[in-house]
Amino acid sequence: MRCLSSLLLLSLAFAACANPKPNDGRAYVLIDGKWEPLVESGEPDLSPQNLPTLQDFAAISRAHQVALQLPRLDYSAAEIGHVVDDILDTATTRLDTIAAQDPATVTFADSFAAIDETLFPVVQILNQLWLMKESRVEDDIRLACNAEVQKMDSWFVDLGYREDLYRLADGFRTAYEAGKRGELTGEDLKLYQDAMRDYRRAGFDLDAATRAEVADMQKKLSELANNFDTNITNAAVALSFTTDQLEGVPESFLESSRQDDGTHQVRVTVTPDYMAVMSSARREEVRRETNRARYSVAMESNGPLLNEIVQLRDRIAKKLGYANWADYKIEPKMAGTGQAAIDFCEDLMKGLQPKFDAEVAVLTKLKRQETGNQTAQIHWWDFRYYQNMMMKRDFGVDTEAMRVYFQLDRVLDGMFEIYQHIFAVRFTEMEPPYKWNGDLRCFLVSDAETAEPLGIFYLDMFPRPGKYNHFAQFDVISGRTEPDGRRRAPVAALVCNFTPGVAGEPALMSHSEVETIFHEFGHAMHAILSTTKYNSFAGGSVPRDFVEAPSQMFEAWAWDAEVLQRFAVDYRDPSKKLPPELIKKMEAAQKATIGLAERRQMGLALADLRMHMGDVSDAGQVCNDANSEALFAIPEGTNFAAYWGHLTGYDAGYYGYAWADSIAADLATVFENAPDRFLDQGIGLRLRREIYQRGGSRDVREGVRAFLGRDPSNEAFLRFLGIE
Ligand SMILES: [Zn+2]
Repeated sequence: MRCLSSLLLLSLAFAACANPKPNDGRAYVLIDGKWEPLVESGEPDLSPQNLPTLQDFAAISRAHQVALQLPRLDYSAAEIGHVVDDILDTATTRLDTIAAQDPATVTFADSFAAIDETLFPVVQILNQLWLMKESRVEDDIRLACNAEVQKMDSWFVDLGYREDLYRLADGFRTAYEAGKRGELTGEDLKLYQDAMRDYRRAGFDLDAATRAEVADMQKKLSELANNFDTNITNAAVALSFTTDQLEGVPESFLESSRQDDGTHQVRVTVTPDYMAVMSSARREEVRRETNRARYSVAMESNGPLLNEIVQLRDRIAKKLGYANWADYKIEPKMAGTGQAAIDFCEDLMKGLQPKFDAEVAVLTKLKRQETGNQTAQIHWWDFRYYQNMMMKRDFGVDTEAMRVYFQLDRVLDGMFEIYQHIFAVRFTEMEPPYKWNGDLRCFLVSDAETAEPLGIFYLDMFPRPGKYNHFAQFDVISGRTEPDGRRRAPVAALVCNFTPGVAGEPALMSHSEVETIFHEFGHAMHAILSTTKYNSFAGGSVPRDFVEAPSQMFEAWAWDAEVLQRFAVDYRDPSKKLPPELIKKMEAAQKATIGLAERRQMGLALADLRMHMGDVSDAGQVCNDANSEALFAIPEGTNFAAYWGHLTGYDAGYYGYAWADSIAADLATVFENAPDRFLDQGIGLRLRREIYQRGGSRDVREGVRAFLGRDPSNEAFLRFLGIE
């Protein structure tokens, strides 16, 4: 286990600057690379590890008109319910007062802006509940937070349906459109427009009868979607095969799947089982049967249900004034319309064609060699198997052995230097008033030039029981302009699960974890660099098909030789740098079948979009057709979509993954072409100014164009995928 003291000793901010912090017991703050004493008279220095505390930053925060605080996060299970109730009661009372105003005379400040202001503490406690629910060590507080999150969710649902607030907003609109109110600009205008758009989307513009009809349809829709999900959850399909039939499948799988009669159970509805057969079973008929079984799961129940869902969605969209469900769902996103999303996918499909064809040719050759059949073709049930064969044959990269080059502390140190440099910010490790776990670290982010405190981030790096088990950034406090004009400094937390060091070894990362930390840290910076006026637009409050792009972009840093050589050294002998050819080999491996992988994504994205463009009688067929067009013919008589959980909740949204990837690749080109490439501060500052600072306060399309200096295109993404 790594120990706390070693973590605290390595202060990355100190490592990044030439002069160490004076160790005379006084509090210091790093300003322009120099440690300046920062204790106002009468303010005690209580920092136990000689790390500065929040108190040490008080004077500089005041000087810069910044509201810098950390939330409590140390509530007990008994307390948290009362805290939430108080906040909700206060907000409800304030909203009642706001709603009671005369719609004919209400001002923007007393309506839209007042609501944003009222919701600020509500959103913050919700953020904090989410973090505590996923990170607090005590079971009872995690459970309590979970219950409070649900309470708050339903509070927000009720809020969205408040007639009185709509009447107020509508009254303002009437006056505004008649020119009786001052012209709104910038964030004010966007706050107003977004709110009116959301009211329209919720059906408030409809007459009472139609609205009631839509509400009934929505209710019915959520019942159907719920049934669809339940059928997926309850589905359990298994096949039995003899050991001979499972020739090629890893021994460990054969062992764990063995039944009393000596045959093996392949649980088709358990993805690792399914993948074990699809990627390594030598016999084609076994793969075919397994594939057919998987793509037939729940089709009797969910096939008809999906048609009903898709048709009902279409009727709802039309009642709300949209041409189809895709247009309705995509309206608030970056793509804007269903057709724009389809055009994007079809364009990418076309661009991928040569790479896809080349990859299939390699796999076909492998199949012909293996089977001796010179006319053999690659089918849906073949591609994973031959892909796996090719990877083993051509790209034997031992990714585990590469961990020695990615000592966690060094990676963090190196990554911090890069982020600090390109965004012209400085990180100073500090001691938070409360730690939910002993390993927790906390850093102040300040502007490198002005020393203005910008925000704070926490790092919670290692797994423990009950903790969130992936990697994610959590907003803790979101930024905004306070009513007194001060800037509220955002607070973010990275909750990660890196493997801790064992027996004398430091914590080591895999290369994909290095990619992950670069990505997640991008989210934290998106939150912290935000300087929006309204909380509604802070940091990552951007459309869902865009939100991944600004952080996804930073994954490219983890593949750049120049970046890696700054910190990727063998921890046992730091004079040994990561051999660049290793990264090249990994990159080649990653790109080797990326055409297939991306075409698969496009098949899914197009399936999801086309079934939501209206006039669909057989959604399953539309889905099968799109997948067949993108990859290989889907087995006849199956219904892949019946077992696709994505269709409830992320419907007409699957394209968003590739959309964000494409924008990310496009954004990265600006760095690639800059004089200092991935370390170019001029470009970093432009990124900070045009995208990170703005959050959702202006149309993200405008931000992307301003950063790129042109319209976005798929070209960079295709190049990234290895297509010139
Ligand atoms: Zn992300």
